[in-house]
Amino acid sequence: MDIILLGPPGAGKGTQASRLEDEHGMVQLSTGDMLRAAVKAGTEVGLKAKALMDAGELVPDEVVSGIIGDKLDDLGAGASVIFDGYPRTAAQAVALDEILANRDRALDHVVELEVDEDALVERIVGRFTCGNCGEGYHDTFKQPAKADVCDACGASQFKRRPDDNEETVRTRMKEYRAKTEPILPIYEARGIVKKVDGMGSMDDVSNAIESALSLD
Ligand code: ADP
Ligand code: ADP
Ligand code: ZN
Repeated sequence: MDIILLGPPGAGKGTQASRLEDEHGMVQLSTGDMLRAAVKAGTEVGLKAKALMDAGELVPDEVVSGIIGDKLDDLGAGASVIFDGYPRTAAQAVALDEILANRDRALDHVVELEVDEDALVERIVGRFTCGNCGEGYHDTFKQPAKADVCDACGASQFKRRPDDNEETVRTRMKEYRAKTEPILPIYEARGIVKKVDGMGSMDDVSNAIESALSLD
């Protein structure tokens, strides 16, 4: 089963993708994570992406579609994939269809996380992650059980993304509204869009996704 998790920055895509990995053995493919890894490694892709990411603007379509194709080849046919943060434009949606068809894969569902924009800024500015294992946290909504110690791996180094500030978030939301939201009708026409309320607790959202996907 291959699915897309679609929603604006801070909607909970990464949080829910990681739960689907843990509970259902799916594999998260996050273009944001891949680009951040490329920036950190100083690769050619990373050099191209860094300034755009810092400004909250989109990285060119060919760059992200290229890395998604490569990752799928690394994974092989057996994996069930969650696309997180991809596709984000009509050109990427077209590219994804081709990337999947070339590998005898197809999209089964598009899960749209519906969230209030006002809540998103609060979610984004409070976001931090474990510097060792990547576990996600939030200043208000998900503190580690023991202060400054990661629940998942015990490390005590946390990090915040340079683009998780209010100004950049506004640009990212504008990009989402202008370029990403308009791709929904492509999938609605295929009857594969499942709308899920993203405003509940993390557990409520997980349950809603599981029932939308008929997972148990
Ligand atoms: P996205 O990947 O869509 O940008 P994240 O999953 O990283 O979003 O979530 C953004 C922030 O909001 C994180 O700090 C996360 O812990 C928190 N968060 C995610 N889902 C919820 C929720 N349902 N309620 C409250 N906070 C949430
Ligand atoms: P969020 O989780 O807040 O939605 P991401 O981690 O998915 O953010 O993306 C961070 C940044 O990486 C984006 O603002 C953009 O610059 C770049 N990026 C990630 N995925 C894509 C994509 N599919 N197309 C273009 N740019 C992307
Ligand atoms: Zn950790």
